[in-house]
Amino acid sequence: TELVNQIAAGEVIERPASVVKELVENSLDAGARRIEIDIEQGGARLIRVRDDGGGIVAEDLPLAIAAHATSKIASFDDLEHVGTLGFRGEALPSIASVSRFALTSRAREADAAWRIEVDGGKPRARVPAQHPQGTNVEVRDLFYNLPARRKFLRAERTEFGHIDELVKSIALARTSAEFRLSHNGKPVRLLKPARDDSDHAQRVADVLGEEFLASSLRVEHAAAGLRLSGWVGLPTASRAQADQQYFHVNGRLVRDRLVAHAVRQAYADVLFHGRHSAFVLFLELDPALVDVNVHPAKHEVRFREGRLVHDFLYRTLDDALSGARA
Ligand code: ADP
Ligand code: MG
Repeated sequence: TELVNQIAAGEVIERPASVVKELVENSLDAGARRIEIDIEQGGARLIRVRDDGGGIVAEDLPLAIAAHATSKIASFDDLEHVGTLGFRGEALPSIASVSRFALTSRAREADAAWRIEVDGGKPRARVPAQHPQGTNVEVRDLFYNLPARRKFLRAERTEFGHIDELVKSIALARTSAEFRLSHNGKPVRLLKPARDDSDHAQRVADVLGEEFLASSLRVEHAAAGLRLSGWVGLPTASRAQADQQYFHVNGRLVRDRLVAHAVRQAYADVLFHGRHSAFVLFLELDPALVDVNVHPAKHEVRFREGRLVHDFLYRTLDDALSGARA
C-alpha cells in the first residue's frame, strides 16, 4: 500500500502548494475559524497547518492516515452532493507516504490530544501530546524518499509564491475564517475574518488591494437557480493586476474552459479585447448540477447544463461591463 499511496501522491501532490491546499481544505471542512500556515524553505523543509476546528478523536487518528478512509462520505449517493472540499480520503496518506509526517489533534470535548507520526508511509504508535482543540499537521522534507521528485522543486521563492497564491485564492472564498501565513519565521499575511462569508469586500481589499476594488464593477445577479456575485476589474494601467483572476464555484477555485470562454467573450464585447482582465467571481448553484469529482488536483469542474451556465455568465458579465463601455 505504500507504493499505492506514493502513486496517488504523484497525482495529487505536485509541489508544496498542493500539500497546503489539501491541509487547509481539511481545516475548513473541520469548521476551523482560524488557520495558521507556517512554511520553511518554500515548503521543502516544513509545511505546518494548525487549526481550531473540530479535531479528530483518538481512535480515528490511524484512520485519518489510512488509504481511502474519509469521514465525509457515508454512501455512494453522497458523491452527488459533496458539500465538503475533501471526500476521497487519499490526501493525508499520500502526503504521509512522501514526507516525514506528524498529525496531532484534540477533538472537541476530548480531555487530551494525541499525535501520530508517519515516516515515508510507515506509521508509528499513537502517543499523548499537548495541543488545544483542533489539529496540527506537520509535513517535513517533502519527497525526501523520492529524490527525483525532490529535485524538481523550484527555487524557494517560486514554491512559496505558489503557496501564497493558493492561500489568497482560498481566503477570498472563505472570508469568515482567519488566515495567517508565515515563511521562514516571518509573518507574510494576516487576514482577519469578516463577519460572515457574504462580506467579501473587506477580504477582497485585504488580499488584492484597495486599488482593485476601486477599479472594479460590482456584479450581483441571480436567475434560474444560478447566482453570480463578485467584482470585475476594468482594464487599468497597472500590470500588477493583470493576472488576478479568481473564479469560485460553490466556494471552490476553478479553472474551467467554459467559464474562461464566457468571461473572455463578455470582455471582448465591450472592446477590452486583448487587455488583461482581473476578476473575483463567485458562482453558486445546486451541487447536484456540478461535478467536482473530475480530477483530485486540477481545478476542473463539469457542469450538468454547461450551455445554461455559459449563457448566464456571459449575459451577467456583459450587462455589468457594458455599463462601463462609455
Ligand atoms: P478527505 O478530506 O478526502 O476526507 P483526507 O486524507 O484529506 O481525506 O483526510 C482524511 C480524514 O482525516 C478526513 O476525512 C477527516 O476525517 C480527517 N481530517 C484530516 N484533516 C483534518 C483536520 N484538520 N481536522 C479534522 N479532521 C481532519
Ligand atoms: Mg482532504
